[in-house]
Amino acid sequence: MTQGRPLLNRRLTEFGTTIFAEMSALAVQTGSINLGQGFPDTDGPEEIREAAVRALRAGHGNQYPPGPGVPELRSAVAEHQLRRYGLEYDPDAEVLVTTGATEAIAASLLALLEPGDEVIALEPYYDSYAACIAMAGGTRVPVTLRPHEGAYRLDLDELRAAVTPRTRLILLNTPHNPTGTVLTRDELAAVAELACERDLLVITDEVYEHLVFEGEHIPLASFPGMRERTVSISSAGKTFSLTGWKIGWITASPDLVTAVRSAKQFLTYVSGGPFQYAVAEALRLPDSYFDELRADLRAKRDLLAGGLAEAGFGVYRPAGTYFVTTDIRPLGAGDDGFAFCRALPERCGVVAVPNAVFYDHREQGAPFVRFAFCKRTDVLTEAVTRLKGLRAS
Ligand code: PMP
Ligand code: GLN
Repeated sequence: MTQGRPLLNRRLTEFGTTIFAEMSALAVQTGSINLGQGFPDTDGPEEIREAAVRALRAGHGNQYPPGPGVPELRSAVAEHQLRRYGLEYDPDAEVLVTTGATEAIAASLLALLEPGDEVIALEPYYDSYAACIAMAGGTRVPVTLRPHEGAYRLDLDELRAAVTPRTRLILLNTPHNPTGTVLTRDELAAVAELACERDLLVITDEVYEHLVFEGEHIPLASFPGMRERTVSISSAGKTFSLTGWKIGWITASPDLVTAVRSAKQFLTYVSGGPFQYAVAEALRLPDSYFDELRADLRAKRDLLAGGLAEAGFGVYRPAGTYFVTTDIRPLGAGDDGFAFCRALPERCGVVAVPNAVFYDHREQGAPFVRFAFCKRTDVLTEAVTRLKGLRAS
């Protein structure tokens, strides 16, 4: 404290250290298997890593790349949106490269919110949403996804009721971290209708777009009336198992891109020069790459979800992402996910994260715990063996 005042800005005091940092540190300290923080334990395609080495050696991107991102990557993003979803974006005016999806989220909220604006977000939500809404001076309005017949679903009436005259935007995440829910075409159509009717902007976080095991990923921007009011966000981290590269992007109409770029230029200005060239190549990989990634993770989902069920957890089988949410109550382990996760490394050498941290209504998330399955099969098998020992202990 100086001048009798806490050092940290009041808007941020409630956030503390991210749960991912806390739990990863605990994993290292205890030598546990880390199924907490979502990062793969094998690196993405060698040819893409080699492309980054080539770019670096050739002097591509070693100095500040252009503010909007290197043209090769902007074109590759535009091509990807067209090839996958039939969405046409102009690589010069409608694509912006960012420092991961994290910066894209921060810059979009900083650019588009005025203090006091309300932002509707689906709770449980990814931790940076609440912090970035706060940094932008906005007010978050959670709409809770509730467990229903083995999956988490969006209550459209609740969503409609959450809109007020102060609502500026909806911040949507599908496939959804941490629940693994993939919003259906009908749900998305209802969101789109509501956004148009109430004249709202929408930011969609689609970083898990290629990790869908049931159903399909449909960008909200593809619904009538949505292209001009949607900022679509994605990144290379999950799709190419390169979470340390921090290359992300937005696609949106020129006005929205210009607004977001205004904020982004004062956050990092630019980053990841050589990686941008490599990610351009990655986005152009044949369909077989994306199919194999999905098949691999589907098998891992089945392994971990099956193992957790056998170990006695209630399991919400995810339709997408690389996370599985579980209910600890059937284990007879109480209903405090925080306490459970803090004790788990000692009890059986596995780390998970408590879903409660992703809620404003903490009690709604109390008995739920998230495990990541973006890990080698032998690691998941060992984790399952350890977790099965829990009931005996
Ligand atoms: N959004 C969601 C839903 C996430 O799970 C993550 C974490 N990987 C991010 C955004 C951040 O993505 P990036 O690592 O590209 O910044
Ligand atoms: N997105 C990752 C997860 O949900 C973590 C990213 C981070 O540590 N900020 O586990």
